[in-house]
Amino acid sequence: MSRVFNFSAGPATLPEEVLKRAQQELLEWNGLGLSVMEISHRDPEYVRIAQQAEQDLRDLMAVPDDYHVLFLQGGGRGQFSAVPQNIAGPEATVDYLDTGIWSGYAIREAKKFVGKVNVVGSTEQRAGGKAIMLPEQWQLSDNAAYFHYCPNETVDGIALHQIPEVNAPIVADMSSNILSEPLDVSKFGVIYAGAQKNIGPSGFAIAIVKQSLLGQPQSSLCSIMDYAIQAKDHSMYNTPNTFAWYLSGLVFEWLKAQGGLAAMGQQNRHKAALLYGFIDSSEFYHNHVHTDYRSIMNVPFQLVDDSLDERFLREAREAGLVGLKGHRFVGGMRASIYNAMPVAGVEALIDFMKTFERANG
Ligand SMILES: *Cc1c(COP(=O)(O)O)cnc(C)c1O
Repeated sequence: MSRVFNFSAGPATLPEEVLKRAQQELLEWNGLGLSVMEISHRDPEYVRIAQQAEQDLRDLMAVPDDYHVLFLQGGGRGQFSAVPQNIAGPEATVDYLDTGIWSGYAIREAKKFVGKVNVVGSTEQRAGGKAIMLPEQWQLSDNAAYFHYCPNETVDGIALHQIPEVNAPIVADMSSNILSEPLDVSKFGVIYAGAQKNIGPSGFAIAIVKQSLLGQPQSSLCSIMDYAIQAKDHSMYNTPNTFAWYLSGLVFEWLKAQGGLAAMGQQNRHKAALLYGFIDSSEFYHNHVHTDYRSIMNVPFQLVDDSLDERFLREAREAGLVGLKGHRFVGGMRASIYNAMPVAGVEALIDFMKTFERANG
């Protein structure tokens, strides 16, 4: 067996130790003679690991006690509709910062459920490249039920590294940067993430929700998406995705063993610095994002001569580097370097890029 370095944006690479552990335990879990997928979610053995996963996530992110940690279904996009229906009324005004493709999808979905979606700002071209409008320019509402943004735009590789200072509760789509570095959760009203980038299997989502925001959901809200109902039932109002929850728990355990988010943040910044450093030093590859707004998780890059794209991807695959094709909307390449991507993977990519440039430059 030989595993490749997988730079896919999502579903994305998982820690090899976690996969091996799941493999080992697949047929017989906890000495019970069955797999973790085949046991009731109400069974005390299962409830114990479900609770442990929640506790480990709380520990990793230092989640304050007045926040619920929910394990939900429907991925990241499920939360695009869950958020407005849970914490805004049908007549409410909500503020959205539009920084890329995922923000745009979130905005479109929110429009179905509230009176007014006010887009406060967007990206812009600056001398140094693509950037996000400065907060002083944002057109905030006086009465927004919440302020929504996506701190890491997965497709565009553009990130807002400072938590905005606004009066409304902040909702953040952290699908592609949750757990990538330490975070002050108390600054947020809701943090949510589809699991398949930095956590575990797809179709699964995590929402971290401040208790005080709950209480007046819209009547259209379906019960499985109702934060208050799911909180009361410990995310088991309906049968949860038990396998995804289990696997996410293994990832949390792995993250703790790596030294937690401080260590991950350091390693992630190191990986990103290596890759951007190389791209910037080359005339053959380009990244168009302003240095202040570059994602440390998703690194898009273009070949100056895009007729070489296909060859680049093919030869990269032959070298054991996969998942590098850019999003279908933007083209070019994208290397996603989430927590589970080792430094060695980034070094192998840079080596390949150098070789390819020598042969084709
Ligand atoms: C991938 C992604 C989503 C969508 O997640 P799904 O699980 O496919 O619904 C939403 N937001 C961001 C920032 C993403 O990267």
